[in-house]
Amino acid sequence: MDALPEQYGAWIREALGAPLARENKATCSDCAMCKPWPPVDRFNLDTKCCTFNPALPNFRVGAVLADEDPAGARGREVARARIRSGDGATPLELSAPRAYALAYPRLSRDGFGKDRDMLCPFYDQGNCSIWKWREAVCGTYFCKYDRGDKGRQVWNDTRRLLLVIEGAVARWCALGAGIEDAALHSIVVLDQAAREGSTPEVTSKDRVERAWGSWIGREEEFYLRCWELAKPLGWKDVLKLAGSEGDELARALWSRFHVGLSKELPAKLRLQAFTVHGAKDRSVVITGYNGADMVDVDRDAVAALTRFDGRLVEVVLDEIARRDGVTLSREKVRELVDHNILKPV
Ligand code: SF4
Ligand code: SF4
Repeated sequence: MDALPEQYGAWIREALGAPLARENKATCSDCAMCKPWPPVDRFNLDTKCCTFNPALPNFRVGAVLADEDPAGARGREVARARIRSGDGATPLELSAPRAYALAYPRLSRDGFGKDRDMLCPFYDQGNCSIWKWREAVCGTYFCKYDRGDKGRQVWNDTRRLLLVIEGAVARWCALGAGIEDAALHSIVVLDQAAREGSTPEVTSKDRVERAWGSWIGREEEFYLRCWELAKPLGWKDVLKLAGSEGDELARALWSRFHVGLSKELPAKLRLQAFTVHGAKDRSVVITGYNGADMVDVDRDAVAALTRFDGRLVEVVLDEIARRDGVTLSREKVRELVDHNILKPV
């Protein structure tokens, strides 16, 4: 099953010639990060990983507003309220209110997955009220990956590519919908000032008026127009809009997916540092690249991992079987490689 939201899934499927499948370990409806076992730093069931306020590009805002599905009523209501507030609503996107954006780096250090004050406004009793239309960051985030760090890298590359596409498509839609050059320019100037930490002499009312130009007061209509423009775009259209940066990121993703996810085992492996989190029955739970993404290993096999000292895998597996009496499957060895617990030499 395609893991990406509608439209984005179709683009990436065409780019890769295959869909990006769901991550089975990230069991969102029964949140894998909220369970008492394994013993990791758990998330809050009231927030899960939605302690984040996404920047929805203009055409996705339009998609949320245009969707008549009763299940999306809450998402539409929240989007409308945020557009009315004017805080974070520009012709390019609907982003977090300024106060949230400023506090986010500090709050997210310890509060990610836990702090109710950081909860996304679209979160609705354990579910995302704009699930079909979520943007690049939400669409590509998982707490755990079936292929460990290799899977994480594929999703990170997908996110980078989709963010560039979102920006390019949003600009194209804004211009196509008839936003004035001066209005777009004011957004660029104010964004740059915010990034540089300077505070230009404009009130928030001025900021909104400048950004919207003649569309002020008709913001919902504007976002709907953007969605009408973006809806028919296929992969080739968006790749063209994303220019050389999009092209480079698409090539990198193709290689990461088709080459990086190869299931072939490296010839020689060496054991790396890993963390032991606990033991249950005959299993020990360990992690490598990410303290939340666990690997279950037979208790006797964990001790035998020290035999991976850079020699040929076949030689080490044979030695483990003869000397330790443990059968370590090639599949388990590959899982340990995916999690950077064993690394090629
Ligand atoms: S991705 Fe988020 S909601 Fe899904 S299982 Fe992980 S923490 Fe829970
Ligand atoms: S938009 Fe949806 S998935 Fe993203 S943070 Fe909000 S509730 Fe979670």
